[in-house]
Amino acid sequence: MAVIEVIQGDITAVDVDVIVNAANSALAGGGGVDGAIHRAAGPGLHEACMKIAAEKRKAGASFSEPCPTGEAVLTGAFNLRCKGIIHTAGPVWHGRGESGLLASCYRNSLLLAEQSGFASIAFPNISTGVYGYPKDLAADVAVKTVRETLPDCPGIKRVLFVCFDRENYGLYQTRLS
Ligand code: ADP
Repeated sequence: MAVIEVIQGDITAVDVDVIVNAANSALAGGGGVDGAIHRAAGPGLHEACMKIAAEKRKAGASFSEPCPTGEAVLTGAFNLRCKGIIHTAGPVWHGRGESGLLASCYRNSLLLAEQSGFASIAFPNISTGVYGYPKDLAADVAVKTVRETLPDCPGIKRVLFVCFDRENYGLYQTRLS
């Protein structure tokens, strides 16, 4: 069974096979963790995202949603020390049942990491920044979904939650202890 850990820090600096980006559906890059990952990875990452977006649109995806909310896509890691980056689009919080979509982000990212042969994965606190998802409710969904999905991912040996702020760090510590 995989170990699940939490640290407070910057996801671009952690030592894992693959990191997850809280991206947007257009894969266009943005602020927050998305901006930090793009800055650290270098311009090759934006080019890779635009290539995937173009392919998905060619295959019928809507212009604004090459990566629909809750789904996940993989790119290389470029200047980052990890081997890959999984981009998932979290839901914007409206208080109208977004938990299923947030759970899909964690589940689909883990399944994609498993299919891609990665043994360790780091998650940011998806949707808890600009997208406004309450941090305590998001932590409930993240920890529960990862625990429920890991039995389907025998190749994944380590899951790391990387919390940028102290509040999220405390919420995850409580849930994982
Ligand atoms: P979203 O649009 O999904 O809410 P944000 O990037 O605004 O995405 O925020 C998601 C979480 O990522 C927030 O908890 C924010 O504090 C955190 N975050 C921002 N920068 C980093 C970073 N470099 N490493 C890890 N987490 C980060």
